[in-house]
Amino acid sequence: MVDLGGQYQGIKEQVNSSISNVLDSSAFINGPEVHAFQKELEEYLNIKHVIPCANGTDALQICMMGLGLQPGDEVITADFTFAATVEVIALLQLTPVLVDVEPDTFNIDIAAIEKAITPKTKAIVPVHLFGQCANMDAIMDLADKHNLFVIEDNAQGIGAKHTFKDGTKNMSGTIGHVASTSFFPSKNLGCYGDGGAIFTNDDDLAHTIRGMVNHGMYKRYHHDVVGVNSRLDSIQAAVLRAKLPNLDEYNRKRREAAQKYSSALKNHEHILVPKTVNGCDGICDTCDCHVFHQYTLRILNGKRDELVQHLNDNGIPCGVYYPIPLHKQKAYVDERYNEADFPVTNLLVKEVISLPMHTELDNEQIDYITAMIIEFVNR
Ligand SMILES: *Cc1c(COP(=O)(O)O)cnc(C)c1O
Repeated sequence: MVDLGGQYQGIKEQVNSSISNVLDSSAFINGPEVHAFQKELEEYLNIKHVIPCANGTDALQICMMGLGLQPGDEVITADFTFAATVEVIALLQLTPVLVDVEPDTFNIDIAAIEKAITPKTKAIVPVHLFGQCANMDAIMDLADKHNLFVIEDNAQGIGAKHTFKDGTKNMSGTIGHVASTSFFPSKNLGCYGDGGAIFTNDDDLAHTIRGMVNHGMYKRYHHDVVGVNSRLDSIQAAVLRAKLPNLDEYNRKRREAAQKYSSALKNHEHILVPKTVNGCDGICDTCDCHVFHQYTLRILNGKRDELVQHLNDNGIPCGVYYPIPLHKQKAYVDERYNEADFPVTNLLVKEVISLPMHTELDNEQIDYITAMIIEFVNR
């Protein structure tokens, strides 16, 4: 599904030398590499504050702690995503409110958010799923209207841009009040272990969070708030510094692969290729709204599971993200949920399939994969 080895070959010298610098310095936690990476990412994103932390799940949790959300506060998020989002809501004893997603972009459905808002709602967590920005115009409007926080889960969307109705563009993760991301190795900007970060333009929130990631300390051994131990280590920061200058190029390669997949697979009666919000299906050279963390098809003839088996039998890796709606996961079942509210997620979990997607895919591989899929669905 990913080819981290191939990508490493292209940056091997830089990565090896910066890791060995860290080893020589012995500044393993919060060393100069971490601060340099923080500054470089702030510049790349055009945001005031990046606060590195240990992983993307912690980043989400710390966003919610930093905003001062309290037990019982309702937090609205998508039913169709990775479980980390709902997990941290539940861990903090906030009340998760899962809502349905859109059938074409797979992102959180605006009408469903609006319907779920109650006097207890405090925050919305849009996930930029598979690398495409959620509808941030509408989400920010709703948040303004109802006085809610917006926490962007940008674990899959780093490097994507959202184009507002007025034509201005913002990097994903810089639009809401605060955002989280993950540097898990297979993410678009991945390190060689665990890593994550929080982004915000809010000075006070950034200050609060900087202490929270380090045991609630603002002055050494003075613990002003309850915090956590969630830091990025310097070796991971060294890897990220070597990769960040290549991120746009990595994302361009992903888009190029997506474009080739879509050209081969579109217009087939049993296949829906991913739709981008600007309508180009990822098939345009300047498209920057989607960074294709995953390239995800819908298989419409009811044979998704057989296709997965067929591809696996022929040596083609593929994945089903995600096979179970969060509202049906044992840990998160809740009698408040009504099946009629999740028609899209309930369908998507049976239809989606994600193809290999990374920076090292070549034409031959893409041709082989798409030919195999078409041959199967034509049967
Ligand atoms: C990967 C991911 C996370 C969690 O990141 P970790 O670094 O693995 O903790 C959270 N949300 C989404 C949408 C993700 O894809």
